[in-house]
Amino acid sequence: MSDNVLKKEFRESDVQRVRNIVNKDYTAKTKSQTGYQKASKRYKEGDVWEEGGRQWTIKNGVKQNITKLDSAKKAVRMPLACPKCGQAMKHRFDKKTYKIHGFCFDCTLEYEAELRKAGLYKKYEAEMINGNMDGFAKDLTAWVEEYAAYQHNYVTEQGVIEDWKGDSKKQNEKVMNNLKEFLEVLNKHKK
Ligand SMILES: [Zn+2]
Repeated sequence: MSDNVLKKEFRESDVQRVRNIVNKDYTAKTKSQTGYQKASKRYKEGDVWEEGGRQWTIKNGVKQNITKLDSAKKAVRMPLACPKCGQAMKHRFDKKTYKIHGFCFDCTLEYEAELRKAGLYKKYEAEMINGNMDGFAKDLTAWVEEYAAYQHNYVTEQGVIEDWKGDSKKQNEKVMNNLKEFLEVLNKHKK
């Protein structure tokens, strides 16, 4: 057998079969111990790929869903104390409300009570169901700023604040100031 004939008969598929035998990977279906195979692709530590509409990676030699890893990271990032009130975040709903707003469950109840007073709760609830908290925070920021601007104009035009609307005005200002505080934490949390 001449060299040329040998080259011709020793095709790519043969090379691959020999490689598989060397790797103790006798059939294409055989899973290796150190990697995962999909559509004849072998993945190694740190690789990221998509499979079944999800993102996967190999971490510590184990195939893992990236979405799960991400949420695990987020859970670790939750501080021990609430950034708004400073209380320990140990209520079973704290994790959930922290993820959404950036403050604890108690603060969320307070926040929602303030929104009710300002007549914004229905809008808030609807946006929450739609998962549009960012949009709601933007609207609320604009609303609080508008209110502050209106107050400012009122003071410069009329000179006296307390004479008009009295207690309800004080009440409104308190609600606005509280909402502003909540917004500060909310907006910091989103960044
Ligand atoms: Zn709190």
